[in-house]
Amino acid sequence: MSTHDIQSSELWEVSRRLINFDTVSAHSNLEAVEYLEDYLKEIGFTVKVIADDVDGVKKASVLAWFGPSQPGGLMISGHIDVVPFEGQPGWKTDPLVMETDGKRIYGRGTADMKIFIAQALVAAKQVVQQHQDFKRPLLFVFTYDEEVAGQGSGRLIKMLPQFFEETFPMPEMALIGEPTDFEIYSAHKGYATFDLVVRGIGGHSSVPKKGMNAIEKMGDVIRIITEIDRELEQRITPENTQLFPECPPSAFNFGIIGGGLAANMIADTCRLKMSLRVSPGDTSEEILGTMKDRIEREVTRKMREFSPECAVTIENLHATPPMKSPQQSPLSALLSRVFNKPVEHGAPYGTDAGNFQHIGINSYVCGPGALEQAHQPNESIPVEHFLSGQEKVEQIIADWCVQD
Ligand SMILES: [Zn+2]
Repeated sequence: MSTHDIQSSELWEVSRRLINFDTVSAHSNLEAVEYLEDYLKEIGFTVKVIADDVDGVKKASVLAWFGPSQPGGLMISGHIDVVPFEGQPGWKTDPLVMETDGKRIYGRGTADMKIFIAQALVAAKQVVQQHQDFKRPLLFVFTYDEEVAGQGSGRLIKMLPQFFEETFPMPEMALIGEPTDFEIYSAHKGYATFDLVVRGIGGHSSVPKKGMNAIEKMGDVIRIITEIDRELEQRITPENTQLFPECPPSAFNFGIIGGGLAANMIADTCRLKMSLRVSPGDTSEEILGTMKDRIEREVTRKMREFSPECAVTIENLHATPPMKSPQQSPLSALLSRVFNKPVEHGAPYGTDAGNFQHIGINSYVCGPGALEQAHQPNESIPVEHFLSGQEKVEQIIADWCVQD
């Protein structure tokens, strides 16, 4: 197929428009939402836009459905937001302008994950044009702030049960088209990010006992977390070993640390930015609860005896749950057939699927482009993925929603 042929398709036009909207997570996504709403209404879907305000920035999720109002439907989901590109070195093209060299298609969000959304839209249009009589419904869910620890879907699932009760029955299963190179993942770990902040008492380094050194106390905190990490390794299950061969247990990561003002001053604060990957079977609430209790018992109590102003706090906590769907299910079988791949492993990253499965929708992650491309400069997907993805989604929708 020539570059001209690729660029004259409807899929190109929808993808190009979506990539052109600056939907970096910190910005409003309302223009893109309006475009999605118009497109979906045009092809016969009922659309509900769920507006939100995140720290003064207007954002929205899109729910859109077609077919009979009955259970057993298929949900297809993707996030509208993208990671930032401003100040990211290495871009050879304008990140908001989709381009192709005939081999790959470039632009922010090509892999993660606007082209999948475009494929799903155009695929739905094709199937709806051929079969008005859906036997089972199709529900699209497009979210914001996935790239901010899944905060958008985390907020959406608080109102979804009511929506499923009053407006549209809960779908049976969900496909989330994150970039997997068309591998099919039935599970992924949960993810939590947070800051640990130790507040001590500053002073002159010549009399260390007059202060409470926050960096020194952070050393104790790190030792406690390292102990918990070792205990988490004792919990490894055979299932998690199969799903996540490279790292089966839940695990902490120390990301950034900073504190103190000068070499000759007692450090009064120390901040540690860190994350936790949570394996299926564990919860971040439980692990972080254990961590908090032990820090309180072994560190904070003694600090407070020195001065009531001393404290260790958790700040900026964002968490999404792990996801584990059955490896054998009607949707996993269908995906396996369409993509000619087994369903064996967990995804090496978190997605909105953790939140969806949390409210009872078994979800699978499979989409065009590779993880290695996501979040990178010159983000791209191969042209074959661009072209074949739409056809695959058409097969999935037709098989689930149209055929007996
Ligand atoms: Zn993504």
